Amino acid sequence: MSGMHGTETTAGPIEGPVPPEATSATGEAGSNPQAMAAVVAAVEAALPPDAVVSDHIRLRTYECDGLAHYRVTPALVVLPETTEQLAAVVRACSDHGVPFVARGSGTGLSGGALPRADGVLVVTSRMRTIHEIRPEDQRAVVDPGVINLDVTHAAGPKGYYYAPDPSSQQICSIGGNLAENSGGAHCLKYGFTTNHVLGAEFVTPQGDVVQLGGMAPDSPGYDLLGAVVGSEGTLGIATRTIVKLTRLPQEVRTVLAGFASTDDAGAATSAIIGAGIVPAAIEMMDALAIEAAEAATHCDYPAGAGAVLVIELDGAAVEVEHEFAQVERICQEHHAFATRVATDPAERALIWKGRKSAFAAVGRISPDYIVQDGVIPRTALPGVLRSIAELSESSGVRVANVFHAGDGNLHPLVLFDDAVEGAAEAAEAVSGAILDLCISHGGSITGEHGVGIDKAAYMPKMFSDEDLDTMQLVRCAFDPDGVANPGKVFPTPRLCGEVPGKKKGAPHPLVAAGKATAF
Ligand SMILES: Cc1cc2nc3c(=O)[nH]c(=O)nc-3n(C[C@H](O)[C@H](O)[C@H](O)COP(=O)(O)OP(=O)(O)OC[C@H]3O[C@@H](n4cnc5c(N)ncnc54)[C@H](O)[C@@H]3O)c2cc1C
Repeated sequence: MSGMHGTETTAGPIEGPVPPEATSATGEAGSNPQAMAAVVAAVEAALPPDAVVSDHIRLRTYECDGLAHYRVTPALVVLPETTEQLAAVVRACSDHGVPFVARGSGTGLSGGALPRADGVLVVTSRMRTIHEIRPEDQRAVVDPGVINLDVTHAAGPKGYYYAPDPSSQQICSIGGNLAENSGGAHCLKYGFTTNHVLGAEFVTPQGDVVQLGGMAPDSPGYDLLGAVVGSEGTLGIATRTIVKLTRLPQEVRTVLAGFASTDDAGAATSAIIGAGIVPAAIEMMDALAIEAAEAATHCDYPAGAGAVLVIELDGAAVEVEHEFAQVERICQEHHAFATRVATDPAERALIWKGRKSAFAAVGRISPDYIVQDGVIPRTALPGVLRSIAELSESSGVRVANVFHAGDGNLHPLVLFDDAVEGAAEAAEAVSGAILDLCISHGGSITGEHGVGIDKAAYMPKMFSDEDLDTMQLVRCAFDPDGVANPGKVFPTPRLCGEVPGKKKGAPHPLVAAGKATAF
């Protein structure tokens, strides 16, 4: 299964229940009314009345995230305003063995925030305070529900910004970014979310509040913050978060280059990086994606291009000037037939508008589509794009490509019309085959959208049993009762009592000798 989204980005949501194979992961198989009643009582005692939603119609507002293909109505929704309230909810869930799922803005594309029918959805949208902007330390302290772009808006007047910039940055939350280790166009030069989160107050699945990381650049002991970033809500819930601020660059130059083919554009991308230049961003769109963006935003991309690159250079003015000359030369060497440089902020914004609205724009040329997310080594770009084109041709399923070329992070958009019988299945088959291509080229099944419920079944294709067991050991250490977002990320639900790993059942020699305690 892959990311179909039916939010504002498509003509309409794909109606349909969660497929049978996923019901054990969503709690539709059964719930415990007594346990839920006890949780409701505890939650109502700890939260203001309007922060607890149990009315069925309002509950349905939260039935899906950006992957609207899967829908589950949660048993209860809570909207805490403080860490204490949030911890009280989680503690109640833990005490009564009721699962909980964290939700930020619900823009995730892998179903990570899909609720549980037998559980509580903990929504952080009322936790939106920016507590501190500290330019002198290059730090900001923010609540988990704070919108990504709002950090930049708050830091901008002081000469700083928050570098990770998912295309959803106008709406997605810092907590969701942390949980997904989100990327964005500018993560090529500046790194993913994990490079920008320095600390987090964290509510464990038992409802305890702990501090992971901090203001200092490094913390002694295990890097638990590192484990939590990208854990998709399966280890607990991040609350007040310390993020790194980045100095606004002296100069930004945005170049739009048109190429006859994705082969040329891909080769130019590798050549730019190979020349030792790391632009802030290199984004690629193919002909179909250009057509969609043009129809939606009139972004004035070069007519007749088989591919465009959006290349952004930033830094000290002299450095940008030097790199620009090299980038221009490399593009020409790779047969760029049209190169445009944004000379003012309005032109720069127009170039980016075409790219950033590309997912939504595809809704103009297809009633439904799957947003796929995979990674390959950058040098494999031309070959893999050719294979995707062949897949598309042999199956008759159209595929538009718009992606973070610098990172080798593909976002093929697999187009179909759900009204046509068998079209969704054909699109799913192509989408899955693209992931197989990524794996066979030494890549990954997700670059930034996470595994969630959507790609859990692909994990064994990428990881050995031992790899997965090791991840389960971490999950079980945080969440032995399996109440934190169960059914996500891992292919089969598993109880921690089973003790994953090779030493199943055999006591550790120190335990056997009475010198240590197993817990
Ligand atoms: C149009 C569009 C463009 C996008 N572009 C990008 C892109 O360029 N790059 C990218 O990386 N992603 C992109 N995404 C995906 C999505 O926006 C990101 O994954 C984002 O980080 C999700 O944030 P959210 O607040 O919506 O999280 P949600 O969808 O609410 O939750 C995502 C996951 O995080 C968990 N979670 C949420 N809050 C917390 C918390 N406080 N503590 C612990 N776990 C938590 C949830 O349980 C879930 O597993 C895009 C999505 C859309 C719709």
